[in-house]
Amino acid sequence: MKKNLLDFSARELNLFMKEHGVPAFRGTQIRKWIYQGVEDFDQMTDLPKDLREWLTQYFSTGALKIKRLLKSSMDGTCKFLFDLGDGNYIESVLMKYSYGYSLCISSQVGCKMGCKFCASTGAGFVRNLTAGEMLGQIITVNRERGIRIGHVVIMGVGEPMDNYDNVVKFLREAQAPDGLGISFRHLSLSTCGVVPGINKLAEEKMPVTLAISLHSPFNEQRSEIMPINRRYPLEELMEACRSYILSGGRRITFEYAMIRDVNDTKEHAYELCKLLKGVQSHVNLIPMNNIPGSEFSRSKPEDVERFTKILTDKGIEVTVRRELGRDISAACGQLRRSETKEG
Ligand code: SAH
Repeated sequence: MKKNLLDFSARELNLFMKEHGVPAFRGTQIRKWIYQGVEDFDQMTDLPKDLREWLTQYFSTGALKIKRLLKSSMDGTCKFLFDLGDGNYIESVLMKYSYGYSLCISSQVGCKMGCKFCASTGAGFVRNLTAGEMLGQIITVNRERGIRIGHVVIMGVGEPMDNYDNVVKFLREAQAPDGLGISFRHLSLSTCGVVPGINKLAEEKMPVTLAISLHSPFNEQRSEIMPINRRYPLEELMEACRSYILSGGRRITFEYAMIRDVNDTKEHAYELCKLLKGVQSHVNLIPMNNIPGSEFSRSKPEDVERFTKILTDKGIEVTVRRELGRDISAACGQLRRSETKEG
């Protein structure tokens, strides 16, 4: 496989060039082109011909091959299936909001976490994505649609904390002014609750938006639907969240998929209030999306309403996530790693 130029930071690329007898500033030039989404080295007109030839032979610009693009007829959401070139596929979802475009990217091919309600984990885990492959999703979509994505959420396939080093490198390059130039505040990372990852992230001094997939305020039930809870139970998770906020991080988003008669009762709502007491937070309720073969279904609207009211009355800020891309299976928990017929 060719070397992915997006896997280099600015410093690394300049150094690499120097080590190969190419002036370091060529690295800066190359980087400018690849971040613009230029895929053909011959279009990099300020590079000498022999350098372009060398690059063409041994390197890739990191742009990803679009295997399939599905567009929702309901809301314009687009789902991209990317071919990684090694027989693996990943999905990204582009959403349009009043504040601009947001891309939901994948961080791994498959997932090890085994959450019972999520389709991403069903087919197992294959490998981590490199930082360049995460950047490539954004750069390719920008170029394909002729847009500039302003917000990125690492909420596609994969558990970002299980691919920590690459994800952190990705975040730095996504934020770098000579990279994608997206501010940390507009970069979100969602985790199922890998506590050591949260603690490490707190030390990186990158004020990204942290989201925690909570889904139940009761240890016993959470362990049943999210195996990670057996390793890091709620007490430890909440402790890590508190220190994340104290470390100068921002308030945390708690994601809560509303599953009918499973986690949507009054008792759950009250217990959730207790759990979040004194934690600077925001709860994002996600109407559960249907997964083929799953025993779970979506909460009734009146139960979502009751749940919301209990939280709001206790002073907790709640939003119900707008469902985008349902007709193309692009909603939360529906993304997969495989090339499937039904989308
Ligand atoms: N592994 C990370 C990143 C995935 S984010 C994490 O767990 O946070 C995807 C979000 O969608 C998570 O909050 C996940 O719990 C949620 N989700 C998974 N399956 C879902 C489903 N069927 N309906 C609604 N949300 C779901």
